[in-house]
Amino acid sequence: MIEKKFVNTNNTQDRPDGKYSGVIADIQKDGVCPFCAEQLKNYHKNPIIEETEHWLVTNNMYPYKNAKHHILLIHKVHIENIKEMSEKAWSELHAIFLNAIERSDIPGGTMFIRFGDTKFTGASVSHLHAHLVSSDPENPGYTPLLTRIG
Ligand SMILES: [Zn+2]
Repeated sequence: MIEKKFVNTNNTQDRPDGKYSGVIADIQKDGVCPFCAEQLKNYHKNPIIEETEHWLVTNNMYPYKNAKHHILLIHKVHIENIKEMSEKAWSELHAIFLNAIERSDIPGGTMFIRFGDTKFTGASVSHLHAHLVSSDPENPGYTPLLTRIG
């Protein structure tokens, strides 16, 4: 039997704290999905900012290097592909992005959804999730926010 993989230890780049790869390696050893409801509180310590029928919204614990804002949207039920998302989940996503942009006063940013086989996505967690990131160009030490998307 092929063991189910919930995380991809090859996709742990771009985190300035240097701890993220160890966190994902530990989760792989635990053999669980860190974004599923029964596990999330064990691996994610930031508060939930917003909750809808289909989504949890929180700040990423391991923001990308040079991100001023890094908001994580986690689909509440374990799915891995956008074809499993309901119309309601899609419409909630729209409202969540608008709320987050308003709440954090984000003048510009990038949104993306990581879905499907993680070897094609750069995702470290296979459970479907979305990111809203914004860089920090007014910081004197500004350098561009770069991340892997494949
Ligand atoms: Zn999951």
